[in-house]
Amino acid sequence: MLTSGWGQYPTIDAQWRSFDSEKQLQKILESLPHGKSAIARGLGRSYGDSSLAETLLSTRRLNRFISFDDATGELVCESGVSLAEILEVFVPRGWFLPVTPGTKFVTVGGAIASDVHGKNHHKDGSFSNHVNWLDVLLADGTVVRCSATQNTELFLATCAGYGLTGIILQAAIRLKNIETAYIRQKTVKAKNLGEALSAFNEYPGWTYSVAWIDCLSRGAKLGRSVLMLGEHASKEEVPRAHDPLTHERGRKFSVPVDFPSFALSTLTVRAFNSLYYTKASVSSSDAVIDYEPFFYPLDSIKNWNRIYGKRGFVQYQVVLPKEAGREGLTKILERISAAGRGSFLAVLKLFGKEDGPYLSFAKEGYTLALDFAVTAGLLKELEELDVLVKDFGGRIYPTKDARMSPEMMKSGYPKLDSFRSVREKVDPGRRFSSLQSRRLAI
Ligand SMILES: Cc1cc2nc3c(=O)[nH]c(=O)nc-3n(C[C@H](O)[C@H](O)[C@H](O)COP(=O)(O)OP(=O)(O)OC[C@H]3O[C@@H](n4cnc5c(N)ncnc54)[C@H](O)[C@@H]3O)c2cc1C
Repeated sequence: MLTSGWGQYPTIDAQWRSFDSEKQLQKILESLPHGKSAIARGLGRSYGDSSLAETLLSTRRLNRFISFDDATGELVCESGVSLAEILEVFVPRGWFLPVTPGTKFVTVGGAIASDVHGKNHHKDGSFSNHVNWLDVLLADGTVVRCSATQNTELFLATCAGYGLTGIILQAAIRLKNIETAYIRQKTVKAKNLGEALSAFNEYPGWTYSVAWIDCLSRGAKLGRSVLMLGEHASKEEVPRAHDPLTHERGRKFSVPVDFPSFALSTLTVRAFNSLYYTKASVSSSDAVIDYEPFFYPLDSIKNWNRIYGKRGFVQYQVVLPKEAGREGLTKILERISAAGRGSFLAVLKLFGKEDGPYLSFAKEGYTLALDFAVTAGLLKELEELDVLVKDFGGRIYPTKDARMSPEMMKSGYPKLDSFRSVREKVDPGRRFSSLQSRRLAI
């Protein structure tokens, strides 16, 4: 079946296999022809080619909750359980995810394998910081439990391991206590990039922070943004009429077909960004809102990836060290603005320190994520941006990537050799590999 990641670029004719037990998975692996590679597939929300291979091992039927300890918040579940399913069951009981990406339609296995980050990285680190242990099925069919203290190297390689050490079968994760399903949100307008970066530092106490940038603004307005800060609201902060732990589900819209590519012109992006910026009418405002629009604004539009048309799109997410942030981000935004490459989605976040899994993306600094429709000249322009990112000591997020070079991967990830040596031990025959791992010579 023709398959792609969320960006619809690239595509591959893949064979899908699914399983709901360790035994079934072992049988599938034994039946794979020698030399044919396979990779785990969760909900396919990685953008590029990290969950693409000739054979896709879908974990979606491996989706049971196993146990929950309400004294500690430890949830044990299978890896195909989605974050949406966890929220559905646990928010009404007063528990929330410790870290969540910008969509809830990802699996626990996918969240661990990309070591995803949320809007609270500066406070709480990445997803793997909240994993007590995980079980991984290796290429020889054995299942090994690993954690930060048990089989540590395997743990450090499997979190942010993109499925290349084996298939995560189940994991124990620590949920966090909440009083309500609401977020106390503060919105702050920043006139330019300098103000946006200062704003992150002016509000360091907030658990969640993210800025939406208008990446087409230029000159003195370059990098003008809307910064959103959030805290889980207490019972007292939620209006009396609302049950604090239930929330209203927003209406879902759907993009029914791939848009023609002309639909997403610079003009439409400019109009959208302008509207978004002016909608935040005052320089700072406060509100108590449902957690869904705060964490998952795009989930309310089903298949929004289709607005980029059949040729698909690429998400370019980079992190630059804090000291290089201002200059580096300015240069990147100037290039994009000059090229007239609009991005509906332009998100800036602050990362805290990270010294975890070998290939974890996060490191202290600022991360910028931009979406670009795949059109003529794009790949070349991104290569030019790579040079800037490399010069400023930054790196690219593999879970969003479909095109970086092996050199860029190597320069961004100094622990790549540690990762390779674990992989060599657990999968010398490269049973598990993806289009991406081959492209990047991981
Ligand atoms: C709208 C949107 C917003 C996003 N926001 C963020 C964000 O804020 N922060 C962030 O970090 N990411 C973000 N992402 C990316 C997303 O969180 C990651 O790509 C995540 O890994 C996707 O999970 P998935 O279940 O869809 O996995 P897939 O896309 O299917 O796979 C992703 C990787 O995980 C591996 N994998 C999946 N399951 C297993 C398993 N059981 N065992 C071993 N390996 C496995 C795959 O082989 C692949 O390498 C966003 C994506 C979208 C579409």
